[in-house]
Amino acid sequence: MRKHAIAAIPADGIGPEVIAAGLQALEALARRSGEFELKVEVFPWGSDYYKEHGVLMPEDGLARLKAFDAIYFGAVGAPDVPDHVTLWGLRLPICQGFDQYANVRPTRILPGVTPPLRDCGPGDLDWVIVRENSEGEYAGHGGRAHRGLPEEVATETAIFTRVGVTRIMRYAFRLAQSRPRKLLTVVTKSNAQRFGMVMWDEIAAEVSKDFPDVTWDKMLVDAMTMRMVLKPQSIDTVVATNLHADILSDLAAALAGSLGVAPTGNIDPERRFPSMFEPIHGSAFDITGKGIANPIATFWSGAQMLEHLGEAEAAKRLMRAVEKVSGSGLVTPDLGGTATTQQVTDAVCEAIRAENL
Ligand code: NAD
Ligand code: MN
Repeated sequence: MRKHAIAAIPADGIGPEVIAAGLQALEALARRSGEFELKVEVFPWGSDYYKEHGVLMPEDGLARLKAFDAIYFGAVGAPDVPDHVTLWGLRLPICQGFDQYANVRPTRILPGVTPPLRDCGPGDLDWVIVRENSEGEYAGHGGRAHRGLPEEVATETAIFTRVGVTRIMRYAFRLAQSRPRKLLTVVTKSNAQRFGMVMWDEIAAEVSKDFPDVTWDKMLVDAMTMRMVLKPQSIDTVVATNLHADILSDLAAALAGSLGVAPTGNIDPERRFPSMFEPIHGSAFDITGKGIANPIATFWSGAQMLEHLGEAEAAKRLMRAVEKVSGSGLVTPDLGGTATTQQVTDAVCEAIRAENL
């Protein structure tokens, strides 16, 4: 029996609701398979913990997480705690501490979902966006001088290193190579940003030599937004900087029908540390406690996690179950349905158990 240790951090808002749903599906998969076991430990970290202890996770938080094979994360953020406190207090220390430099965001139009683009259905949009997750525009470098005065100056410096860009580029080429179309679009803004972005283009050209079977092209980020809307079929795998991919992946989530279905993996490809899997969405205060949060993004990130853990069969089964349920019209209000989180979860678990899935 294969064993996988999972640290679950449900955290805030709808986080606990969707992680509870995700764990039910994972448990159903393990039981159905009979070949692997999940040992889950739930950590009560987040904004409530912060209000009690003054920190979002204990000082030895990373040391404790390090013992696990993967982290299953909900969402962090509360109405009465500043967003930069919650973000820099929990998610980012984990991403940075465990050098999860590849942020992987698959996007697909699921059956039963009506996307906003006319003439675009399942099959027309099947992308993976790879976001550089450790440096770039979010490296946290900059400063403010003459704060509050008319002559105030603020800088926000993007950091690009040859090591950092090369490793994300190799990851993206390898991922593109593993997909049927073997197609990669390298996104930059190298016309206006002539240092880091030009280096990014040069490194892409160098790395591409090791992947002769991958067809790749370059695209400026502004033009890329148009291409995503006008020619979604022409795109497969995409690699972009921390900021650019952050923006493009929200657009991608919207084009696929809802933020409520968009998953992400924060991956350490070298497997020195646990990788972290989570829905892209936040804690959604407006629907917290109503029982209507869409659990699909969390299921899908669970499938990414299973794949990372070597349970590819179970990962595929989970996605087939999700597609069967979404295709049947049993969906939450964000997708135009009337189902609750628990109804969708029960239906997915039932599909997982079914003989003929
Ligand atoms: P959000 O993603 O929480 O919500 C945006 C909108 O999408 C809301 O209308 C919400 O109801 C809807 N939505 C989100 N997830 C949904 C789901 N699963 N099912 C149905 N509808 C869903 O973004 P926001 O409102 O900008 O941020 C709220 C809080 O979450 C803030 O504190 C923010 O900092 C935090 N946040 C955290 C993360 C994270 O933990 N990774 C990501 C984004 C935002
Ligand atoms: Mn974002």
